[in-house]
Amino acid sequence: MNSPLLIGSTPPISRVMMKAETLEVAKAFWEQAGDPGPFPRNMERAATLALPIAIVKLPRLTVATLASWLRKRGIEIAAPVCEGDMAGCVVAHRGCAAIFVCATDPEDELRATLAHELAHVLRHYLAPRQRVIAALGPDVRAVLDGERPASFAERAKGLLLGVQVGVHVHVLPRDGRHGAIARIENEADELALQLVAPRDAVLDVLRESAALSASARDRRKLLAERFGLPPDWFAVYAAERTGPSDRLGSMLTQLRRSE
Ligand SMILES: [Zn+2]
Repeated sequence: MNSPLLIGSTPPISRVMMKAETLEVAKAFWEQAGDPGPFPRNMERAATLALPIAIVKLPRLTVATLASWLRKRGIEIAAPVCEGDMAGCVVAHRGCAAIFVCATDPEDELRATLAHELAHVLRHYLAPRQRVIAALGPDVRAVLDGERPASFAERAKGLLLGVQVGVHVHVLPRDGRHGAIARIENEADELALQLVAPRDAVLDVLRESAALSASARDRRKLLAERFGLPPDWFAVYAAERTGPSDRLGSMLTQLRRSE
């Protein structure tokens, strides 16, 4: 049964659900990155401290400016499909990643984009890679990096099924998801939110704002200011009427359905 995610005078903590893996991956990330410091969190610093990641800020981010930047550094990849401007993009290979963001975006959008792309790196690139390496040994890295085909013995274990090999490229279009796989995107959004605005910290702020009888809109604004993300990222925590309407809201509704 689905009940609306409403934040009333007291936030219903148990009703804002997250996948256990999201909480685990976020926790492991901050253990590697070290002290996250005060909110809003500096995700650029944390990402580069925790992982072999480069953050590249381009004045304009399109398939052409991305390809040009890579080409100048001797990197040729199959161009991702994305018409128009992108908010962000990640290129990952051999256990390293470069996250591209648009330098002229406002700070809260930059933080959101960076966290979304970082979430893809953590959850959809590094986590499956680490699982396969742990199970099959370090020699399998060459398979994951697209440098040799998998042996019969490696294939026989079935661990490579569904694992993308070679260069990973993920694009975040500026105007919608363009048929991006919803589950993957929802997982990235959920993890991104937990990295930047952990659930417990969000609920602490909501308790304060509930005491002030703030409207749902004002609470989203308060959360946005505290955590440095666009207000619509918090619709799941502070919904207007009968339930979440944005992408994070529908993602959490979906997660609750699957429980
Ligand atoms: Zn994405």
